[in-house]
Amino acid sequence: MVELLRTISDLRARLSAIRRNGAAIGLVPTMGALHAGHGRLLEKAVTDGGFVVASIFVNPTQFHREDDFQSYPRDLATDLAFCERRNVDAAFVPDADEMYAGEPLTSVVVSGLTEHLCGPQRPGHFEGVATVVTKLLNIVQPDRAYFGEKDRQQLVVIRRVVKDLDIPVEIVGVPTVREPDGLALSSRNQLLSSEERQAATVLYRAIRKAEELVQAGETCPGEVMKQGLAVFESEPSARVEYFEVVDPEQLQPVDEIKAPVLIAGAAHLGATRLIDNILVEARE
Ligand code: AMP
Repeated sequence: MVELLRTISDLRARLSAIRRNGAAIGLVPTMGALHAGHGRLLEKAVTDGGFVVASIFVNPTQFHREDDFQSYPRDLATDLAFCERRNVDAAFVPDADEMYAGEPLTSVVVSGLTEHLCGPQRPGHFEGVATVVTKLLNIVQPDRAYFGEKDRQQLVVIRRVVKDLDIPVEIVGVPTVREPDGLALSSRNQLLSSEERQAATVLYRAIRKAEELVQAGETCPGEVMKQGLAVFESEPSARVEYFEVVDPEQLQPVDEIKAPVLIAGAAHLGATRLIDNILVEARE
């Protein structure tokens, strides 16, 4: 049975008993509406061993728009069954009052890494993410915490928070899980109409096109972006928010492409915003 823990004190009491027995602790932070992408993180954590905690918390402070927060899919019973099937030991499911009791005055701001990609259009988003993840790492004090490469900027930001604040945890990045047609799995995919779902593959196709160019030796980021953006012309219903070629560590645009390089984009399909990226590690 997956144990359901709703308060920080209950979770801490449970984990101190686990630690006394010498077991390692793995943490998989999520916002619920679990799918096979989350499943991959949970399976990796369970395979790595020890006591695995999944947190399920739709964090209000990382949403830029109230309607996006309200419409975010939530289904706790299904999520708990999902965790159970994957042999997760405990689910930490706090409410917002538990996580943000007493109107906190402290937050974690990571400068520099959030000037591009998702940063400009979502003010406060990464501050919300960095703060809630720091809190979860302090609450759980895991040996390992697992994050998806699908949210690459988030992964880079969290690695930096852990480094800069000397948080004693190993951050494990997990590759993106995709639908057969390439669409990256996302809890938001269930909000797409069938037409939007079909059109949504354009984001992956554009990123793949850019990847092919880089692999073929193209060194001009402007050319790669131009040809990637041209792919979106086949789907006028998709609105591009950004499409960028950046350095995978600093997340800053590059003047000349030398692998490794990160190709990342965001697009709106109706009211739903989707993101995706590919890291080109080395030219083939
Ligand atoms: P979320 O519930 O969207 O906040 O995601 C929780 C974790 O699952 C994050 O570390 C995400 O990067 C990761 N994740 C979400 N979708 C995928 C996917 N398609 N493949 C791999 N990891 C994912």
